[in-house]
Amino acid sequence: MSHVASKGLQRSMFGYFRQILTYKCDWYGKKLILADRQYPSTQRCSKCGHSKSGDDKITLQGNETHRTKHNEYVCYSCGAVLERDENAVANLLALI
Ligand SMILES: [Zn+2]
Repeated sequence: MSHVASKGLQRSMFGYFRQILTYKCDWYGKKLILADRQYPSTQRCSKCGHSKSGDDKITLQGNETHRTKHNEYVCYSCGAVLERDENAVANLLALI
């Protein structure tokens, strides 16, 4: 499958997943909180709230400019060194 086609499938699967989640939450009387598409969960520091931008952004390859690895989040504002996924989860939990 081409990259474009798989990206499309991924997007439509997410739409489906979201529908199921919405339905299930209604059923169980739970409130579903959806993070905004633009919410920088991987770029935001869960400790101080600083958001990376431009050349400071963390990518799937890490960060070229700062020579950091893809699985670590190094905050250039407060100096926190965090695990990338754990930092993202903490940022999403901060929305609740
Ligand atoms: Zn920070």
